[in-house]
Amino acid sequence: MRTLAILLSAMLIAIQMPAQERCQSATYQEKIRMQHPGIASELSRIQTKSKSLQDQLRTSSFMMRTVNSWDTIYIPVVVHVVYSDDAGNISDDQIQSQIDILNADFNKTNSDFAKVPNVFVNRAGEARIHFQLATADPEGRATTGIIRKKSGRMMWLDDDLVKYDGHGGSTAWDSKSYLNIWVANLSGGLLGYASFPGGLAEKDGVVIRPNVFGSRGKLMPTFNKGRTASHEVGHWLNLKHLWGDITCGDDDVFDTPKQRSHNTGCPSFPRINAGCDNGANGDMFMNFMDFTNDACMGMFTIGQVFMMRSMFEEDMPRNAMLESRGLDKPWNLTPSPTTSSEFSGKMKVYPNPVSSSSLTLTTTNDENWVGKYFFIFNQSGQMVMSGKLNLRQHSINVSKLSGGVYYIRVGSDSENLSTRFVKQ
Ligand SMILES: [Zn+2]
Repeated sequence: MRTLAILLSAMLIAIQMPAQERCQSATYQEKIRMQHPGIASELSRIQTKSKSLQDQLRTSSFMMRTVNSWDTIYIPVVVHVVYSDDAGNISDDQIQSQIDILNADFNKTNSDFAKVPNVFVNRAGEARIHFQLATADPEGRATTGIIRKKSGRMMWLDDDLVKYDGHGGSTAWDSKSYLNIWVANLSGGLLGYASFPGGLAEKDGVVIRPNVFGSRGKLMPTFNKGRTASHEVGHWLNLKHLWGDITCGDDDVFDTPKQRSHNTGCPSFPRINAGCDNGANGDMFMNFMDFTNDACMGMFTIGQVFMMRSMFEEDMPRNAMLESRGLDKPWNLTPSPTTSSEFSGKMKVYPNPVSSSSLTLTTTNDENWVGKYFFIFNQSGQMVMSGKLNLRQHSINVSKLSGGVYYIRVGSDSENLSTRFVKQ
C-alpha cells in the first residue's frame, strides 16, 4: 500500500512538473493546417517564393553587396501580458529586456556570439531587423506597446484562446502592422509557440511563458536570456527547426548543416550525430533554431537571414509591416471606448488653467498607474512631453510649454486616462 502511495505521489509530481518543452510550433502549425485547409495554397506559395528568392541570392555574386544594401526593417511590437497572479504580471523592465535581446540576436550584436565556434562564425548573418514597442495603437492613440489583462484562467494551451478577449485573453492588434507577443502561463512545461507567416491574421504572433521572457525578472535558470522569443520570432519569420522536424530533415535553408534531431542542454563542439552525415563540424547546436539552453545559443545563419528578410518582399506575408504606423507619433486624440475621462474621477490635473511651472497629476488609489507613462499632446496632436509617473501624485514641470490647450494621457493597461488642460 505504501509503495502504491509513493508511486502515486511520484506520478502526481510527474504530472505537476513535466519536463520543459522548448517549442511546439511545428505541431501547432500542423494543427492549423488541418483546421484551416484553405490556407494550404498560400503556405505553399510562400515556401516556393522564399526558396526562389533564396536561390537567387545564393547564386548571386553580389550576395554581400545585397546584404550591405539592406535597409533596417522596424517592427512595432505589442506585448499582451495575460496574467492571473503577480508572478505573471511581469514588469515593463522585464519586457524591455526582451526587446533588447531580440535586437541583439537578430543583428549579431549579442555578446555571446563570441562563443560561436570559428567554423560557423562566417556563416552568421545579421538580419537588420529592429524591434520596438509600439508608440501608436491601431487607431493612432498613444500607447506604451504593453497591454495588461488580468484573467481568471491560470494556464493556457497552444489552442490560441489567449489571443481572444472573449476567452479571457487579449485580442490581437492588426497583425499586418504589429508583431503580437502574448506573455502567458503555458501548461505542460511548454515554453512557447509561434504562428508561421501565411496563417490566420487574428492568431498571428508568438506566445511565451513569463518565466522565460527577457533577461530580468524571475526566470528559469536555463532559459534566462530571452532566447525563447528569439527562437519563436524566428518561426514567425518562417524559420523551421534545423532538423526540419523529421529525422535528418531539411529546414529549407542552404547553409545550416543537416541535423538528426534537436539538441538540448549545452553540448560541446563538435556535436556529431551518427547516421546523418553532417561532416566533421556536426550540428549547429548554437543556432537559435535548436533547443539548447539560452546561454548556449548565439546565431542565425546568412541563409536564415535571407529566409526571414524574404518575408518582407512584395507579395510576401510581412510586406505590409513596412507600411506600419505603429512606431509613429500618436495622431489620434479621440478617447478610446475604454478611456476614462476626468469625470470618472480616476485622474485629475490641477491647477487648471495652470500659470505656474508645475502641474500636478493625481490618479486614483490604484497602483496600476504608478510606473506608467504620461504623454502630453498639443492641439495638433503632436506629442510635446512624456514621462513616467513615479507617484500617485506626480508633479510635472510644464514651464517649457507655451500658452494653449493641451491633452494629457496616461495608459498602458486595458485602460487609458486622458484629460485636457490649459497652459496660460
Ligand atoms: Zn521552435
